Amino acid sequence: MKEIREAGTWKEERSIITPQRPHIEVVDGESGLPRPSLNLCANNYLGLADHPEVIDAACQAMREYGFGMASVRFICGTQDLHRKLEECISKFLGTGDTILYSSCFDANGGLFETLLGPADAILTDELNHASIIDGVRLARARRRIFKHADMSDLRLGLDETKDARIRLIVTDGVFSMQGDLANLPEICRLAGEKGALVVVDDSHATGFVGPGGRGTPEHFGVQSGVDIITSTLGKALGGGTGGFASGRAEIIALLRQRSRPYLFSNSIAPPIAGGALKALEIVQREPERLENLRRNTSFFREAMTQRGFSISPGGHPIVPIVLGDEKLTVRAARELRERGVFVVGFTYPVVPKGKARIRVQISAAHIREDLETAVRLFSEVVSPTGQSHPSGPQGI
Ligand SMILES: *Cc1c(COP(=O)(O)O)cnc(C)c1O
Repeated sequence: MKEIREAGTWKEERSIITPQRPHIEVVDGESGLPRPSLNLCANNYLGLADHPEVIDAACQAMREYGFGMASVRFICGTQDLHRKLEECISKFLGTGDTILYSSCFDANGGLFETLLGPADAILTDELNHASIIDGVRLARARRRIFKHADMSDLRLGLDETKDARIRLIVTDGVFSMQGDLANLPEICRLAGEKGALVVVDDSHATGFVGPGGRGTPEHFGVQSGVDIITSTLGKALGGGTGGFASGRAEIIALLRQRSRPYLFSNSIAPPIAGGALKALEIVQREPERLENLRRNTSFFREAMTQRGFSISPGGHPIVPIVLGDEKLTVRAARELRERGVFVVGFTYPVVPKGKARIRVQISAAHIREDLETAVRLFSEVVSPTGQSHPSGPQGI
């Protein structure tokens, strides 16, 4: 623990005393008093976490179906509500069937070992989410890590694993620490050429990336080339909890028989299922939310760029502001919080050593004034060039 503290990577949790939304109140560590803050680090991309209709639907589901199931799905934990949510997700994504898990972490944990054995091979991007890394470790298949977004390394990996029975390529749809999208057109093309399967974890895309919010396969128009999508209900779709895997009916049927986090962990709670169903309905009913999110994102990206910050290009609401040094990043984030902008410094092991950053996440629920305030405070606290700022603390 001493080493972690000395490295500047100790993570403090801060208590929020309001629902999740753009304007929250956070208990100050020193004074113990709540501080009104502009929240720039939630995965609440569509602003559905405190949406009155989502809350009502969750309450309604709880009244009708109870608080919890006290059972796994296959014993006595399946309600028609669970099936309804699975069917709605399948319809939304255009897949054959969907299986719910307690989290996307579990969806990834239960995927690879169920489908693959020692005769098979997994090709995995080096920056994939921790849950994919762990899921891949559990499988007895051969593992080939390819360099981040490096399609020639992926091709090489496919050639090296020619003799495998099944080859499966797995990638994040959106990489959470950078906000960059996987090159799905090329991945799907290579998979088609080499006869491999494609798995996309679309946790940072489901509900808001693509013209209809159906995620990165829709964004790139390669829905038919993706075999399995894993994703979360814990981000844009209300941010409650829960995850799923979605794909061809036969694959999902096998997961229901053999996937360990599904067989050995409780059903998702009725209010969660009810709230998520409503969130999906709102996404499809109110395309203006997606439009707002896009407008907000391009406004913030452009305004920050104009102030001299170098931001990796793209249109995703994840906007990383890389400062490099761990302690400097933690200090800058703290100063921003003290001035009422709630952001967190990301340090090792969440990002590589020396690549510390403040990750901003834009929401459809932010208003223009929120974003203007954020840009102004960022330029007051953080020098874009990384040199010490006249008005800021030394080195920030
Ligand atoms: C957030 C995230 C997860 C975990 O989702 P939970 O439902 O919170 O477990 C998995 N994969 C990716 C890519 C994520 O961003």
